Amino acid sequence: MKTYYIGVDLGGTNIKIAVFDEGFRKCGEKRTPTEVKYGSEHVLVRIWHGITELLEELHLKPEDIRCMGMGVPGILDIPNGISRFSPNFPKWEEVPIVAWMENHLGIPTFIDNDARVNLYGEWKFGAGKNRKNVLMITLGTGLGGAAVVDGRVIYGATGSAGEIGHINMFRQGRKCRCGSSGCLGRYVSALGILRTFREKVEAGRQSVICEWVNDDLNAVTADMLSRAYDEGDPLAIETMHETGELLGYGLCAVFSLYNPEIIIVGGGMSNMGDRLLQYTRDVLDSHALRIPYSACTIVTAVLGDAAGMLGAAACAKERMEALHSA
Ligand SMILES: [Zn+2]
Repeated sequence: MKTYYIGVDLGGTNIKIAVFDEGFRKCGEKRTPTEVKYGSEHVLVRIWHGITELLEELHLKPEDIRCMGMGVPGILDIPNGISRFSPNFPKWEEVPIVAWMENHLGIPTFIDNDARVNLYGEWKFGAGKNRKNVLMITLGTGLGGAAVVDGRVIYGATGSAGEIGHINMFRQGRKCRCGSSGCLGRYVSALGILRTFREKVEAGRQSVICEWVNDDLNAVTADMLSRAYDEGDPLAIETMHETGELLGYGLCAVFSLYNPEIIIVGGGMSNMGDRLLQYTRDVLDSHALRIPYSACTIVTAVLGDAAGMLGAAACAKERMEALHSA
């Protein structure tokens, strides 16, 4: 009986692989560096080997796996299983992930956007359980988004629905890898907030963080900003305030479009929690449409970095069932 599922979360730093049973309880997990700089073939081989080793550890064979889901960052051709382009992955264009994996493993494979598999995880098993209108935002290195509207995960014409990181906030803003400039994700993301902080220091402002890193601004991390905020550092507070507010203005637009009942904030930067989100809420309080906003709660994700693997596996199961019932 094929009663197991695999979920893979492909990130720029790590590949995370988990095997789940029928009830989506985790049977085993493997994490391995992506080694992204060696290009697509190298990364695909690493995923393949990681899966093979994990199956051996669990005394399972590829035949025991019903299907596999993968969360992949960047622009995808979801129906054809191709990763077209990924901004943080060099030598990575038109990579036929699904065909490659199915050839090497013989397991039916499905890919989806990394923010969307996180949404799947939190919607099915986490903070968004039993909800019909969910907006997920992933605050990581960059800013991702995905949404469930009226009980369905939305994709749009090219699978890009929910890409809130590229909402234009400034006509003449920071350049973005998408080709535009002034995109929300260039400000509200780990890279974005650190750049905002750096620009303030370079303009002559002082912060306790500069002492911590001996004035090496490249060594500043998002966690340091939180720590300095807790110590009452005025520049850390100002940076958090500006970034949280900007997220609020961005979310006002998203809010009117999707009318969510819950907004789940995930990704590594969500550890900032209310230090950041209190300013987001302030803007929404005064600017979001009143009736839908009063029916919506904003929470942080509960599954941590396991949401991607779980969501990828659950999403694959649904797509496999949809194929068979079609
Ligand atoms: Zn952009």
